[in-house]
Amino acid sequence: MDCIFCKIANGTIKTEFLYEDERVVAFRDINPVAPVHVLIVPKKHIESALKLEGEDFNLIGHVFMVAKKLANELGIAKDGFRIVNNCNRAGGQTVMHIHFHLLGGRDMQWPPG
Ligand code: C5P
Repeated sequence: MDCIFCKIANGTIKTEFLYEDERVVAFRDINPVAPVHVLIVPKKHIESALKLEGEDFNLIGHVFMVAKKLANELGIAKDGFRIVNNCNRAGGQTVMHIHFHLLGGRDMQWPPG
């Protein structure tokens, strides 16, 4: 399958991971939009939030636990941070493998663009 995040997650494309376990990897976004911009990516290929099913709720809960751990480790927990999942075109999704942006290190705006 020609999926860039599958290739990153399975090591075909060498990437420095901030975190890895049997279910997810986390690495710095190649085009950061905040001082801290990390992507948390399930290893399982799921196209988007719309394709979540069955036991995937467990996986997504795990993603949030990893986000919390990384937020603490990266020093953005106290001031606050944002976790973003873009879904499909209008949601701003450009890579069709579900992933979660962990953003911090600056004040976020609301509503998001
Ligand atoms: O939510 P969205 O699909 O737009 O996010 C994809 C993100 O993946 C972008 O922030 C982009 O910079 C990042 N990316 C990356 N490394 C790649 C390809 C995309 O960090 N090789």
